[in-house]
Amino acid sequence: MTPSLKRYRRIVVKIGSALLVDRTTGLKRTWLASLVDDIAGLARGGTDMLVVSSGAIALGRTVLGLKQRVLKLEESQAAAAVGQIALASAWSEELGRHGVVSGQILLTLGDTEERRRYLNARETVATLLRMKAVPVINENDTVATSEIRYGDNDRLAARVATMMSADLLVLLSDIDGLYTASPALDPNAAFIPVVERITPEIEAMGGGAASELSRGGMRTKLDAGKIATMAGTAMIITAGARLNPLAAIDRGERATSFHPSANPVRGYKTWIAGQLEPAGRLTVDAGAVAALLSGKSLLPAGVKLVSGAFARGDTVAILDPDGREVARGLVAYDAPDAVRIAGLKSTEIASVLGYEPRSAMIHRDDLVVSRAAGSANSPTAASN
Ligand code: GLU
Repeated sequence: MTPSLKRYRRIVVKIGSALLVDRTTGLKRTWLASLVDDIAGLARGGTDMLVVSSGAIALGRTVLGLKQRVLKLEESQAAAAVGQIALASAWSEELGRHGVVSGQILLTLGDTEERRRYLNARETVATLLRMKAVPVINENDTVATSEIRYGDNDRLAARVATMMSADLLVLLSDIDGLYTASPALDPNAAFIPVVERITPEIEAMGGGAASELSRGGMRTKLDAGKIATMAGTAMIITAGARLNPLAAIDRGERATSFHPSANPVRGYKTWIAGQLEPAGRLTVDAGAVAALLSGKSLLPAGVKLVSGAFARGDTVAILDPDGREVARGLVAYDAPDAVRIAGLKSTEIASVLGYEPRSAMIHRDDLVVSRAAGSANSPTAASN
C-alpha cells in the first residue's frame, strides 16, 4: 500500500499537459482547483510541496489557435511564451485562494547539470520553501533549443526532486501506472503496483509518447524513476485526471509505487570526493571539525585560514588545525569573499560583503567527510 502522503517531508508533484489543458476549452480550472486543494492541505500539514507543471506549450497553442499537429521549434517556443504566463497566473491564483504564495522557476538543462548554476537554482528553491512558498517549476521552453533541453518534464521533475532531496516524486499522468505493455495496444497488459528496482525487464515495458499533448511517455517516466530512486527518492505514477488526484493516492486508488534504492548512490557526493586536486583549502577550528563530523554545514565563523584562488562552486579541501584534511566540499563563495568573511559570525557578514550572505561557507549537502577524526580511513560520503 502507498503510505499516506502526509508522511513525506518534501514532495515534488509533476503534472502532465494533457491533465491541465483541454485542446478546445483551454485550462481545466475545476480540476486544477481540486489539485491545489490537495497541495495546500499537505503544505498546511508541514510537507514542503513543489510543483513541476507542464502545459505552457499546450496552453499557448490554444490561445494562439495553432491547430497543426506538429509545431516547429520556434512555434513551440512562441506558444510556451504565451502559455507560461497563463499557466503561472493560474497556479498563483489557485494557491493564493488558500493563502499560499507561489514562485515561478523556469529551468534550462544547465541549471541542474552545471554545479555552479545547480547551487544557485537549489538555493533559490530552498529559500522559497523556507518562506513557505510553493515553487512552480517548468522548463524555460522559450530559450531552450534541442541541445540544451530536458525535453520532457518527467526527467526535469526527477532532477528537481533529487536536487532538493525530496523524499517523494509524484507523476500525475494520463495513465494510472506501469503496465507490462501499453494497455491501449495490448489487451493482456498487466498492471504493476510496486517496482522494487528498475531492472532491464521493467525498462522494456516503457513504450513511446503517451499522447500528442505531452512529450513524455512511459519511457521518460521510467528514466525519471531511475534518476529519482537511485538518489533515494520514492516515485509514484498515477492517473491525474480525477478530481483531487493526490487525495486519491491516499485512498488507495490505482498507482505504481517505485521504491527508493536502499543504498542510494550518492553520485554527487562521490563526484565531490573524487575531485583530484581541490582548488583551495580552508583551515578550520576544532569546533568546526566537530560540527562537520556530526554532519553539519561549515559556517564562516569556524574558518581560520583560506588559501587558493577558487571560485564559488569549486571543490575545496577542509583542513583541521593540524593541517590534516577532514572533508571536501563545494564552496559557496569566491576566494576573495571567503577571505573577507572567514571567522565572522553570520550577523557580521552582510555589512562586510554588502549583500545578504548565504548561510554556509559549504552547505552540508555539498560536503563529504574524508575520514573520522584521528583515523586514516579512505573517503566516505557523510550522511545528511
Ligand atoms: N515544458 C513543456 C510545457 O510546459 C512540457 C514538457 C512535457 O510535456 O513534458 O509545455
